[in-house]
Amino acid sequence: MNLNELTIKQARTGLDNGEFTSVDLTTVCLKRIKECNGELNAFITVCEKSALAEAKVADEMIENKKIKPLTGIPFCVKDAICTVGVRSTAAAKILDNYIPPFDATVIKKIREQGGVLLGKNNCDTFGHGASNENSMYGPVPNPHDLTKVSGGSSGGSAAAVADNMCIFSIGEDTGGSIRQPASFCGVVGLRPSYGRNSRYGIMPMASSLDTVGPITKTVEDMAVVMQEIAGCDGRDATTVPDDVPDYEKELGKIDLKKLTVGVPKEYFEVDALDPEVKSATLAAIEKLKQAGATIKEVSLPMTKYAIAVYYIVVPCEDSSNLGRLDGVRYGVRVDTPPTPSYQEGDSDTGNIPLLSRGGRGGSLYDLYANSRDQGFPEEVKRRILIGTYALSAGYYDAYYKKAQKVRTLIIQDFEKAFKKVDVLITPTSPFPAFALGEKSFDPLQMYLADIMLAPASLAGVPALSVPAGMSKSGLPIGVQIIGPRLSEGLVMGVGEAIEKN
Ligand code: GLN
Repeated sequence: MNLNELTIKQARTGLDNGEFTSVDLTTVCLKRIKECNGELNAFITVCEKSALAEAKVADEMIENKKIKPLTGIPFCVKDAICTVGVRSTAAAKILDNYIPPFDATVIKKIREQGGVLLGKNNCDTFGHGASNENSMYGPVPNPHDLTKVSGGSSGGSAAAVADNMCIFSIGEDTGGSIRQPASFCGVVGLRPSYGRNSRYGIMPMASSLDTVGPITKTVEDMAVVMQEIAGCDGRDATTVPDDVPDYEKELGKIDLKKLTVGVPKEYFEVDALDPEVKSATLAAIEKLKQAGATIKEVSLPMTKYAIAVYYIVVPCEDSSNLGRLDGVRYGVRVDTPPTPSYQEGDSDTGNIPLLSRGGRGGSLYDLYANSRDQGFPEEVKRRILIGTYALSAGYYDAYYKKAQKVRTLIIQDFEKAFKKVDVLITPTSPFPAFALGEKSFDPLQMYLADIMLAPASLAGVPALSVPAGMSKSGLPIGVQIIGPRLSEGLVMGVGEAIEKN
């Protein structure tokens, strides 16, 4: 086995026993990135020099017995997450040259204990997408079949883990961006409960849904990373003060004989549900049953509204969050020649002297408009337009407010279900990875790919995707385990039982 193929647990043992160093491990991962990134495009930025320097420091920590679970472990990070001194673009040209002066809290926690940052992963721009085809840095093909998508929006992160370019990665999930690419690439992805992990330093997409979580090779590794990154953060007021449980211990504690698994019928009635995905999910449920779990059919009747609600709430929050990007400080800045009607001294426009400060003689308005035109891809513009429209006077009540009301009903669906069952099991995606180009020209088709993912996102509950087999054509299939708020330990425990089958 090559070192880059190791799990965190295996790498930890090897590093601590002196079988290899973090420099060895990092070198092998960087070699793999060099060999495969041309084809996979999973990294926007590779930190070759700094990774080797960080690995050296980690090796000293290990030598001095200052060992924490992630010391010396090479990892990578979705490019929508800030990393100090390392370019962070969110796959948007408008941030093409943005180098953050700080680390996101979750990244800081990993780096402080000697985690080695290999680089920044490609993604759909600002997380808008389900295939990684909305990236301004090109798509990320699926490592299992280069004609298929890797999923999105954290496609680069999932592909990097699946292709063993790293030992684990950190992604972001607003409406499925960790879970869906994890399922398409055959790895493990957790969307934690809203408020469990700090989002400080994560470029905001839809603030009432955004979460940050790991993508790993095994559920056990997931528990290790979650243990290190979870917890309250004074810099993110949405984080909860609840103690972080010992996740690894929780994994071992799951007694399947005492577990009631809910099977939400609406998820299995989706038109687009692929028969192979359906049978893989039912087979995973059947195995749990054989191991002693009680299986119960439940109903989440509001599921059918989830996509409609999600694609109102999210663009509204997107449009508000993206208002800060204007092309003045970073990235694409499109200076334009002066527009005659905006000339200084124009009698119709009293504030022109101020406006004309933008660009080389062009107006500030033109600078904003042209920079945003070239700095954002189509999908981002679409969301800004939809969100601005749905929030405008006259439409707010009809769209945004109504969507928020239905969101409450979706939350209540989950609350009622979790009175009857411990966890819910569903497919992660209705289908395995689809072909590159198959849905990219039809935004609605792309949005519908989120049908199994959006409900848990809107409800703020944790959801894990674990591999549960392969399709006949050799594509991974993932199943999703959804639990009540802050039940990450339980969800991972059930995920591990499925993984072991
Ligand atoms: N497909 C979802 C969307 O485009 C994924 C978003 C996310 O989780 N970042 O909104």
